[in-house]
Amino acid sequence: MSKKEEIKHKYSYKSTIKKKYNLTDYQIDQAIEKGLIKDYRYVPNPHYSSKKSLIINSQELLQHLEEIRKLEKYSEGEKKKRKEYNKRSRKVSQISFYCPLCDAKIRPLKDSYTRDAVLNDTMDYENAKKVVIVTHFRHKHTNYDIIRKDRREFINYLEQKYKEQKIEIYKLQYFLEYEDKLKELLKNEKTEEAIELAKKYGLLPPNFSKEEYDRIALKIKKMYGLS
Ligand SMILES: [Zn+2]
Repeated sequence: MSKKEEIKHKYSYKSTIKKKYNLTDYQIDQAIEKGLIKDYRYVPNPHYSSKKSLIINSQELLQHLEEIRKLEKYSEGEKKKRKEYNKRSRKVSQISFYCPLCDAKIRPLKDSYTRDAVLNDTMDYENAKKVVIVTHFRHKHTNYDIIRKDRREFINYLEQKYKEQKIEIYKLQYFLEYEDKLKELLKNEKTEEAIELAKKYGLLPPNFSKEEYDRIALKIKKMYGLS
């Protein structure tokens, strides 16, 4: 056996060991610190040349495995972080819902104000969840995004609204000037559509109205200085 092969045979990467024996970084760090693992070394990382990887004598590790397993799994800092993380995910799961159309659990978007407000305890779960449901339905289960993001679709939509006498001709003629207002019209209409659809699937109370949604949405907007 060549020296290189011998090393390969005798030592295992820390990542492999962690997986194979269900150990944590902190347990391995402590095992080294306490001298339970004495035969280890750092080698160039096979994936990142700038980093080093820890390799450990797996025979020696096996001899002390039970002892190493009894060591604390996480450092105080890690424990605090995990606790905080779990607390946050519990809050987020309170305002997540199962969407039957997507057949998936829908969580609020990471950058959403609603999620932020709930994480900061400035908004109750019940209202926040309603916003998450309506927002998801508006974006995913109406053609809101298709119309909003495509100029031609948007113009077609506006012409249709003109025919239905929902907008005045001057707003169409001075389209650019009224663009924001017209987009608001689209948003309002698609929000209503989203609410009705979500109700059909029993995700919102039957008496939930667009006005109620607007009240909640306005509260969030004010909270973040958007209105
Ligand atoms: Zn969906």
